[in-house]
Amino acid sequence: MAGNQSIKLFEQAQRLLPGGVNSPVRAFRGVGGDPLFLARGKGARVWDADGREYIDYVGSWGPLIVGHAHPEVLEAIRLAAESGTTFGAPTELEVRFAEAVRSAVPSLELLRCVSSGTEATMSALRLARGFTGRHKIIKVDGAYHGHADFLLAQAGSGAATLGIPGSAGVPPSAAQDTIVIPWNDEEALREAFSAHPRQIAAVIVEPIPGNMGVVPPKLGYLHAVREVTRQDGALLIFDEVITGFRVALGGAQALFGIKPDLTCLGKIIGGGLPAACFGGRKDIMEKLAPLGPVYQAGTLSGNPLAMAAGAKTLEILSRPGTYERLEKLSVRLEHGLREAALSASVPTKLHRVGSMLTAFFTDTEVTDYTSAKKSDTVRYGHFFRGMLSRGVYLAPSQFEAAFVSLAHSEADIDKTVEAAADSMRAK
Ligand SMILES: *Cc1c(COP(=O)(O)O)cnc(C)c1O
Repeated sequence: MAGNQSIKLFEQAQRLLPGGVNSPVRAFRGVGGDPLFLARGKGARVWDADGREYIDYVGSWGPLIVGHAHPEVLEAIRLAAESGTTFGAPTELEVRFAEAVRSAVPSLELLRCVSSGTEATMSALRLARGFTGRHKIIKVDGAYHGHADFLLAQAGSGAATLGIPGSAGVPPSAAQDTIVIPWNDEEALREAFSAHPRQIAAVIVEPIPGNMGVVPPKLGYLHAVREVTRQDGALLIFDEVITGFRVALGGAQALFGIKPDLTCLGKIIGGGLPAACFGGRKDIMEKLAPLGPVYQAGTLSGNPLAMAAGAKTLEILSRPGTYERLEKLSVRLEHGLREAALSASVPTKLHRVGSMLTAFFTDTEVTDYTSAKKSDTVRYGHFFRGMLSRGVYLAPSQFEAAFVSLAHSEADIDKTVEAAADSMRAK
């Protein structure tokens, strides 16, 4: 577990930062113990403050699909930095970045850059409301779209009822226009629309949820969401902050052949720096200031360093063989973990789409957040600590994805599988 240096830093951090962290899940509350302080990353490896080495499957929660400190990305950042780090004026880098995004995800006819996924979803939903003139939105239980007030909502007493605040500090008025429905439940979706006809501005989904652990859509579910929204005149927003450039160059929308009205991207597109964007249909995006009445802005939006790191990462990803390589490594990991669980008689449901993967410790099918929560989180805590002590860094929560990167090698995967087999046997 945490070494002396991490423990010392965590003590100091707790006197300065609430819980010692700048984002809650980093605090290891989901698995117990103290967080590791990381000092360095290179390729698929990270080193903690005590100099211990780990194979990393967190990848900064998704962005680092080409690995830590990729030399080409570093060079792009260095070059950009030498010309100035921010201007608050248009730059050529923004044009090159937008071209790279649009050529991979053509549904983004126009796009706007922001600095975080939270900003992207919040702004896309404001735009959806401004465009449709409607107030209500639908989100999926257990899906995460950043921490805007109206997205921190929980289901009320029934599927089609008003949302209630999902965090202290969120006023009921902010949550009441958010309808929360279970994932993969077509009936609940139709019910919500028939209870609020022509009042719903948008449905926002993670097309492959990663924030309840990986829970793929059932066959036909996303097509049903597309059809229902279109019939009612509501917009469909794909939050591809994780899946964009992760499950395919064109994201989940390319994988499933579905065209959303708006898309949110983040994580990978910043290449390890803070960048995100939202975009989609031209007629909708033209409602955004300065062209239209929907206000949205940002001092550091389209930041040159982030644009340079992002554009270089997208360029690396667009080279031939990239996603085949990720698939091959991820299949190897999936098969190895399956075998490890089987031979240790540990009940697991292993879900994988491309290079995102979750092993739920349960023997019941996981199809939504309610079933995901039946997982044995105590067992996950043991597993997590077992992996850490064997040099593998996983997300400190059962309800997250493991991310394979282009920097992982077959040997890394095999070492990981061996660590998993040992950890599961030790229980
Ligand atoms: C991480 C994430 C966000 C929020 O992005 P931040 O950059 O952390 O604000 C939004 N949506 C999804 C699907 C995410 O995984």
